[in-house]
Amino acid sequence: MRLLQRHLCMIAMSLVAISSAQAAPLVEPTLHIKPAASGAGHVALTLDACGGQTDTRILSALVENKIPATIFVTGIWLKRNAAAVEIMRAHPDLFELENHGGRHVPAVDTPRKIYGIRSAGSPEAVQAEVESGAAALARTGGPAPKWFRGATAEYSPSAIAMIRKLGFKVAGFSINGDGGSLLGARETARRISAAKDGDVIISHINQPTHAAGEGVVQGLLALKEKGMTFVRLDDADGFGNNGTTD
Ligand SMILES: [Zn+2]
Repeated sequence: MRLLQRHLCMIAMSLVAISSAQAAPLVEPTLHIKPAASGAGHVALTLDACGGQTDTRILSALVENKIPATIFVTGIWLKRNAAAVEIMRAHPDLFELENHGGRHVPAVDTPRKIYGIRSAGSPEAVQAEVESGAAALARTGGPAPKWFRGATAEYSPSAIAMIRKLGFKVAGFSINGDGGSLLGARETARRISAAKDGDVIISHINQPTHAAGEGVVQGLLALKEKGMTFVRLDDADGFGNNGTTD
C-alpha cells in the first residue's frame, strides 16, 4: 500500500513537471477603437519608446502636422531622452504618455524568451515591471498612466489578469506598422497608410537610424491626406471602446 502511494505520488509529480514544461501559450491582445460616426474615419497611433533614442523625424512630423499619438515609454527611455519628453509634455494636446514598463522585460510570468528577450519570469517580476514603469512616468510630472503595453506586446494570460488588477488597461493593437521597426520604409508606409477606421497602429519612435521611421512619417501623412483623423487611446476610451479580444 505504501509502495502504491509512493507510486501515485511520483505520477502526480511528473504531471506537474509536464504541465510546467508546456507553459501556457502567450497572447497578443488586439485592440480596436469604435469607428468614427462620420467623416473619413479615425485611427489611434501608438508608438513605443522601448529604450535607445528618439526618432526626431517622427516626433517633428507629429508636432508639425498636429497628429496626436499615444507614446508607450519605459523607465530606461525616460532617463535618456529628457529633451524629447520635454517636447511631448509641452504638447499635452498631442501626446499621451503611457506605461511600457520599467526595464522593458516582457510581461510573461514564467521564464522564457520572446524574440530573444528574457521574460520577467515570475508574477513578482511582472508586477515590478508594471509598477516601476508607472513610477518612472510619475517622476516626469505628467498624469498617471492608465494603459500598459509590455515589451514585445506578448503576455501570459495570468500576467494580463495581474496587469488589470494593478489598474491598467492592456494596450493591444490591430496594425503592426513597422514590424518592430525592422521593416523597410516602403513596407512600413504601405501598412500604415492602409489603416481603416477604428484601427490601432503600433510602431516605434526610438530607432532614429532605422529606415522604418521614414515609412512611419510617410504612412501617417498619407492617412492625413485621405482625411483620416487621429485619436489617443484615452480619447478613444472616452467613447468606451477599448475592448481587447485576447
Ligand atoms: Zn518595446
